[in-house]
Amino acid sequence: MKPMDVDQTILARRETIIAALRKIVRGEGVIDNEIGRRPYESDGFTAYANLPLAVVLPSSVEELQAVLSYCHAHDVKVVPRGAGTSLSGGSLPLQDGVLISMMKFNKIKEIDFENRFAVVEPGVTNSAITRAVEHKGFYYAPDPSSQIACSIGGNVAENSGGVHCLKYGLTTNNILGVEMVLMNGEIIRLGGGYLDSDGYDLLGLIVGSEGMLGVVTEVTVRILQKPECARALMIAFDSSESAGACVADVIAAGIIPGGMEMMDKPAIEAAEDFVNVGYPREAEAMLLVELDGPPVEVDHLVGLVEAIALKRGATQCRISTSEAERLAFWAGRKAAFPAVGRLSPDYLCMDGTIPRKALPRVLAGIRDLSEKYALRVANVFHAGDGNLHPLILYDANKPGELQRAEDFGSDILRLCVKVGGVLTGEHGVGVEKRDLMPEMFNEIDLDQQVRVKCAFDERRLLNPGKVFPTLHRCAEMGRMHVHAGQLPFPDLPRF
Ligand SMILES: Cc1cc2nc3c(=O)[nH]c(=O)nc-3n(C[C@H](O)[C@H](O)[C@H](O)COP(=O)(O)OP(=O)(O)OC[C@H]3O[C@@H](n4cnc5c(N)ncnc54)[C@H](O)[C@@H]3O)c2cc1C
Repeated sequence: MKPMDVDQTILARRETIIAALRKIVRGEGVIDNEIGRRPYESDGFTAYANLPLAVVLPSSVEELQAVLSYCHAHDVKVVPRGAGTSLSGGSLPLQDGVLISMMKFNKIKEIDFENRFAVVEPGVTNSAITRAVEHKGFYYAPDPSSQIACSIGGNVAENSGGVHCLKYGLTTNNILGVEMVLMNGEIIRLGGGYLDSDGYDLLGLIVGSEGMLGVVTEVTVRILQKPECARALMIAFDSSESAGACVADVIAAGIIPGGMEMMDKPAIEAAEDFVNVGYPREAEAMLLVELDGPPVEVDHLVGLVEAIALKRGATQCRISTSEAERLAFWAGRKAAFPAVGRLSPDYLCMDGTIPRKALPRVLAGIRDLSEKYALRVANVFHAGDGNLHPLILYDANKPGELQRAEDFGSDILRLCVKVGGVLTGEHGVGVEKRDLMPEMFNEIDLDQQVRVKCAFDERRLLNPGKVFPTLHRCAEMGRMHVHAGQLPFPDLPRF
């Protein structure tokens, strides 16, 4: 990734800006010393770090409005942040921008079991929502592996997914409304505790907008009743191609599992070393398939999936016989990222989506690229959704390895687009995939997307430098030609 230019005029005004922010957010809510800012310099995309100009932690909508209005009036850039677990650098700070942490917005405001929704502040963690409603047999369905840490505000911004999104949908399918503050301090509300929209249905635009349209201050989420029972199958194969074909067969048979995940040999071995739950080390690939619903239906579907797997040459098929065993099956998958982290000093977690039928071709392509770049890769997929997570292992201390890992990752994403897929599944574009956007969108497509951004934030002060590989300001729309990933005038400042 090319580094972002730093506006020296903002740095020169740093003391004035901080003094103004302190008048709005009192006490410890403004962090300007280096030690205090250091923990915020990066997010889950740790390859890049920038010390923010200042960190601000507002604790009310009014404070947030005042901070944004000030920054808007004085041309100061702003990066919103939840828990900082983004894997695409979505909350990577700017040296000449204020980082706004939303983690003081941590209250659950309302739970309506009758109408099946909860109203929460954006800093509430994903799993805290389920904890707040589970005593009545309810839960919040999207379950990113980071769910104990990541915030619902971050989930909305990234349209996050998880192993259960195949059946229950991504964040976008589980959000009913948001309140957010625009860069100019204005508050807007979209949707709420009802199923239809009162005006244009703009909620889908906000979910997945990567903190670039407004700062979310309240989220109304759908809550679901827990299925009566769930059972999981752990199925081993001697090739990734057979496992991929089994996934396609299960879906083609009209079965929508609660979750259907795939891991390749390096990922299986790393996870087994980490959790020791009996994953098949000798297998080349493994599927975890979960069926949920009434017990009679689940038992029937478990039998069907087992038969399909055996027909596709499964070498082993274990079926959970207790809740403890089902959770043990999932423990390795949920811990796959930290487990792979033990194999190598650093890794890049890629995120692309492909049509399911292209899985064997893409897996073979990733193997070839691994040889070409001489870097190991472990693959973890939301196989049912066609969402790939190749984890590229590298050592940042070895000269050139980060660049090689990034080039390898870019080639994987190019392959995803080539087979009819897209650049991201659930981690967002951020800075990680920003410069690859022209692989998928032409100039007209990109201009249209920037126009939407400009309608909310015409000065492009909110989370600039993310998602769009463009040079122009809103007023100059349509003047730049990005061709085949090559930016003209590379020496011009980027924002
Ligand atoms: C170990 C690990 C496992 C992961 N597993 C998954 C997974 O299974 N599925 C998945 O989808 N992701 C996964 N992620 C990625 C990450 O957890 C998600 O993208 C998550 O939604 C980010 O939430 P956050 O609170 O950490 O947001 P941050 O990282 O703080 O921010 C992410 C983006 O949201 C914006 N943002 C944050 N709060 C607000 C707000 N209130 N208003 C407007 N914009 C805001 C930021 O500007 C940024 O663009 C994983 C990450 C890690 C480290």
